Amino acid sequence: MPEGHTLHRLARDLDAAFAGTTPSVTSPQGKFTAGAALLDGREFVHAMSWGKHLFAEFTADAWLHVHLGLIGTFTIDRHAYVGEMPVVGQVRLRLATDEHTGDLRGPNLCAVITPDQVEAVMGRLGPDPLRPDPDPELGWRKITRSNRSIAELLMDQGVLAGVGNVYRSEVLFRQRVHPLREGRRIKRSTWDAIWLDLVELMPLGVATGKIVTVAEQVAQVQADLAAGEVDPLEERTSYVYRRAGEPCRACGSRIRTQVVAGRNLFWCGNCQRRS
Ligand SMILES: [Zn+2]
Repeated sequence: MPEGHTLHRLARDLDAAFAGTTPSVTSPQGKFTAGAALLDGREFVHAMSWGKHLFAEFTADAWLHVHLGLIGTFTIDRHAYVGEMPVVGQVRLRLATDEHTGDLRGPNLCAVITPDQVEAVMGRLGPDPLRPDPDPELGWRKITRSNRSIAELLMDQGVLAGVGNVYRSEVLFRQRVHPLREGRRIKRSTWDAIWLDLVELMPLGVATGKIVTVAEQVAQVQADLAAGEVDPLEERTSYVYRRAGEPCRACGSRIRTQVVAGRNLFWCGNCQRRS
């Protein structure tokens, strides 16, 4: 499933392609014909993401709300030639101008909603480390009262928005927190460290399109960003994610795995102690 950095990049790319234009909006697949007709002929104002939700504002108070779910994709292509792009696959929603075509396929959710509904959706979501002024206190209040594991809580979009299976495993390793520790047994300083780590790491995901967590790669991308030129990383490495049975990069113990909140969790039993 795409994590928050993917949605943030998507909002940025949609803005670059469509902000200030009046795209034609259609549903080649036919499942979003009425919604597309509502948006067609309106100016695309801007797009933004909150966690795994994408919102695009059109003039006269119409908002497109998209959740990609597990298999959804939203591709944006710049036309290489004049004329309409051929439709490939099941395109739920197409935005098209003379210069760009954006095709949404297989989303979990695609709807036209009102500004009040946008507020309501956002009100149910926890703080997103990629938003301009997130409030980590809201996440902390839910964590410190919960007897659910921190691994489960980090995946709960009402606690923290945008973090998925990869970031949760990696950040818990980086902060040496056992993933099954209950929320109410997490110290405030530990939550602050997890939050600040995500605030540091997730923009690197936006910049590169990959989840960067291993110290050497983090340093490399940060140096690239400071120099103003990001080299796309050839290969993502991780500390624990999808490394079950392999040696921990810090201590050499075997990385463990277990299903938590429906997804495979990975950790080092030696570096990330229970107590
Ligand atoms: Zn270890």
